[in-house]
Amino acid sequence: MVPRIGIPDVTAVRAFLDEAHDGLAASAGSFATRELAPLPEPRDDAAARVEAKSLLGRMGAAGVFEPIGRQDWRGCCLAREALGAFSPLADAIFALQGLGTLPILLAGNAALQAHWAGAALGGRAMAAFAMTEREAGSDVASMTTTARRDGDRYVLNGAKTLISNAGIADFYTVFASTDPGAKGKGISCFVVPADSPGLAFAGAQVLSAPHPLGEIAFQDCRVPAMNRLGEEGRGMALGLKTLDRMRATVGAAACGMAARALAEALAHARARRQFGKPLAEFQLVQDKLARMATDLTAARLLVYRAAWAADRGAERVTLEAAMAKAYATEAAQRIVDDAIQILGGSCLLASHPVDRLYRSVRALRIYEGTTEIQNLVIAGQLLHESSAT
Ligand SMILES: Cc1cc2nc3c(=O)[nH]c(=O)nc-3n(C[C@H](O)[C@H](O)[C@H](O)COP(=O)(O)OP(=O)(O)OC[C@H]3O[C@@H](n4cnc5c(N)ncnc54)[C@H](O)[C@@H]3O)c2cc1C
Repeated sequence: MVPRIGIPDVTAVRAFLDEAHDGLAASAGSFATRELAPLPEPRDDAAARVEAKSLLGRMGAAGVFEPIGRQDWRGCCLAREALGAFSPLADAIFALQGLGTLPILLAGNAALQAHWAGAALGGRAMAAFAMTEREAGSDVASMTTTARRDGDRYVLNGAKTLISNAGIADFYTVFASTDPGAKGKGISCFVVPADSPGLAFAGAQVLSAPHPLGEIAFQDCRVPAMNRLGEEGRGMALGLKTLDRMRATVGAAACGMAARALAEALAHARARRQFGKPLAEFQLVQDKLARMATDLTAARLLVYRAAWAADRGAERVTLEAAMAKAYATEAAQRIVDDAIQILGGSCLLASHPVDRLYRSVRALRIYEGTTEIQNLVIAGQLLHESSAT
C-alpha cells in the first residue's frame, strides 16, 4: 500500500489488470523516473511550450503513446499515473494525443489514420482537441462554430477557447456545426491541420501550472471533405465516445498526482520532528494519512474498473467513467491538500514538487466534463434505472 513514487501500484488493482500490465506499469514508471523526474518546472508559458514539444518527441520515441493506439485503456491509465506523478505537463501531452487521435482511430479514413494518427502516436505530430467555445462549455451542443459544405470542402468559421496545445499543435480535431438548427445532432468532427489557411492561433491563455493553452479562430478555413471524421451530424456522438474512453484516464492522472503527494507526506511525517518526536507519531497526522491512503485506493479501484469495462469492449462506459473521473479528481484534490498540510509551510514554495501538484490537480475537476456534469450523468442513470423497476 505504501506508494512508490512514479511506479503505479499494480497489486491494489490486480483484479482489473492482466499480467501484461505489470511490464507496462514498470516501463511507464521507469520512463517517468529517468526522463521526467530530473526536469525542473518550466519557468513560464513560453518555456512550457518549448518543453512540451521536446517531451512529445521523447515520449513518442519511448513508445509511451502505444496504449492509445491499441486502445488499451488500462495501459493508458498506468501511463498517466506514472506521468502525472512527475510531470503534469507530460501527462497533459499524453491526454491530448489521446483526445486528438482517438476520433481518427474510431472514425477516420485510412489516409487520416496512416498520416495523422501514425504521426501523433509516434510523437512526430502534436494533437489538439477543439470543442469548447466561450459560450459553450459544459453545454457543448450550443457551439456556434460552423462548417459549411462547399463542393469537396468544408468552410469553417468561428472560435474555440481553452484549447490545450493551441499554438503548438500540428493538427486540431475540431467540432463544428454542419446543421446549426439541429443543435447536438448537427455537429460534425474534422481533422484540421495547423497550417490550414484561415486557421489562426488567437493567443495564449496562461495557467498557474505549466500547460500550453489558448484560443484559435477559423475565418473561411477550408478543409477537405475527406478530413471529416465519421458521418455528417455524428460528431457529438464521436466526441462523447472519445470522452467516455478518456475520462477514466483523467482519474488515473489524478491518482498519480495523489500517490506522489501521499508518498512525499509520508516521508516527511517520518523524518520531521516537532515537540520532540516525528510528526508520524501524532494521531491527528495519522488520521490524515489514513484518509489519504483510503481515498486513493478507492479512487484507483473506480478508475481501473472503468478502464477494464472499456477494454472488455463495452459499447458505453459512461457511468463507470463518470464515477471514476468525479471521485478520483475530487479525492486527489483532497489528498494533495492534506499533503501540503502535513508538509507545512516550506511545501508552499513554488519550487516544491507538491506545490506543483497543487496547482496542476485543480484543472482535472473541470476539463473533460466538470464534477457536477459527471454527477448529473450518474444521477440520471440512477433515476432512469429506478423508474424502470
Ligand atoms: C486546463 C484546461 C484545459 C482544457 N483543455 C481543453 C481542450 O483541450 N479542449 C477543449 O475543447 N476544452 C478544453 N478545456 C475546457 C473544458 O473542457 C471546460 O472548461 C469545461 O468543459 C467546463 O466548461 P466551462 O469552463 O465553460 O464552465 P461552465 O460550463 O460555464 O461551468 C461553470 C460551472 O457551472 C457548473 N455547471 C454548468 N452546467 C451545470 C448544470 N447543468 N448543473 C450543475 N452545474 C452546472 C459547472 O459544473 C461549473 O462548476 C480545458 C479547460 C481547462 C481548465
